[in-house]
Amino acid sequence: MTEEILDPLVISEQQFDRARLYIQHLQSGLVDFLKQPKRVHIIHFPIEMDDCSVRTFRCYRVIHNLVFGPGKGGVRYHPDITEEEVISLAKLMTWKCALVNIPFGGAKGGVCCDVKALSKNEQRRITRRFTSELLEVIGPYTDIPAPDMYTDEQTMAWIYDTYDVLNPGRNNRPIVTGKPIELGGSYGRTEATGLGCLYATERFLTKGLVPEISEVAGARIAIQGFGNVGRVAAQEFFRRGARIVALSDSSGCIFAESGLNLDDVIQFKKEHGCLVGMPGTLSLTNEELIELDCDILIPAAVGNQIHAGNAHHVRARLIVEAANNPTTPAADLVLQQNGIYLIPDIIANAGGVTVSYFEWVQNHANEQWDLETVNTKLKRKIYDCVDTVFKRWQNFVVGEEKCADTISGEQPGNPDFRTVALMTAIERVANATLIRGIWP
Ligand code: GLU
Repeated sequence: MTEEILDPLVISEQQFDRARLYIQHLQSGLVDFLKQPKRVHIIHFPIEMDDCSVRTFRCYRVIHNLVFGPGKGGVRYHPDITEEEVISLAKLMTWKCALVNIPFGGAKGGVCCDVKALSKNEQRRITRRFTSELLEVIGPYTDIPAPDMYTDEQTMAWIYDTYDVLNPGRNNRPIVTGKPIELGGSYGRTEATGLGCLYATERFLTKGLVPEISEVAGARIAIQGFGNVGRVAAQEFFRRGARIVALSDSSGCIFAESGLNLDDVIQFKKEHGCLVGMPGTLSLTNEELIELDCDILIPAAVGNQIHAGNAHHVRARLIVEAANNPTTPAADLVLQQNGIYLIPDIIANAGGVTVSYFEWVQNHANEQWDLETVNTKLKRKIYDCVDTVFKRWQNFVVGEEKCADTISGEQPGNPDFRTVALMTAIERVANATLIRGIWP
């Protein structure tokens, strides 16, 4: 078997091209525009470390598309982050925002650093310097950062403070989302991605495509990743009566056929710093988790976890992508052939950016909505999104819509949910571009 290419740009290109097959009338000149990032900023800066040595850090901010509004997207701190990865994640933000119908374009940022090896003071200095270097790029109406992997509300507080100190005399709260409540953060933002994941699953199950799982209660769930997204998703599913059979973090996976008690798991993680070793559980690897016998598999960690090498072994009936890009295009084909449904990232983890949008609206109005208001609005957005994509998918199943067949000349089968979600988002951005009128 030929080696699968895991370059993030190749993957996003493949996903785009697959979606394009089903879109009627998309000019190739416009396709080039939609595929390319609008701007890529690569910046190096020095930081004085706690031991007085100096280290240089490399960081990125990519604006992919601004057709619907200011750039929106998280900032990721990770030692292995690359330009290609940030570009592909910025694209994903464009499609995500278009699909949930919020007036933002797509952006993403990253700093090459290992947060676990940095002190709080070093993290603060890096964040402040990063923000100050991007002063001409970010802004409440131009580009709005948010949390992503290894950044949190403290990081967002530093971004806000830096921007506000350097741009005094106006309401700067909408410059960044995912802030602490005390600084104008929204109730429910921290939980929004995990909760959105539950809402997407709940709504999807009502469509009756997976008769073995009629509801979340009682479903056997395996979740990869125990960061903000995976942990909250686990808690929300547990609260609804799901049986959490497996959880994992970077130390490995814990498994209990009869189900894990989330309160105990969280307590154990707090005391020991890892999941593996929890009494009454079996230890497995993160790879084994993907192949576990369960009803719903939720990848909530890094990308490319379900790939050509293991997709054949997936035994879950439904995959819900809480992470960004956890499934490769080759794996998508295998899953579709095997009748395994997948709720793609641009629906399943869109809860985060949706509540970011609510935060931005609240900041402009100088309001703070209560949790119930936020979650009711979130649920409506995610339900609408699932309904829209499901309806479009059905159009293909009943033959009302067909492949536009503009590229290859060959006739592919019906699209999967990722393809339908992507094509819907791409069409919206393409239409809006044309309605605005190409400048000049
Ligand atoms: N980082 C999150 C995502 O990938 C949230 C982005 C945001 O809130 O702007 O969707």
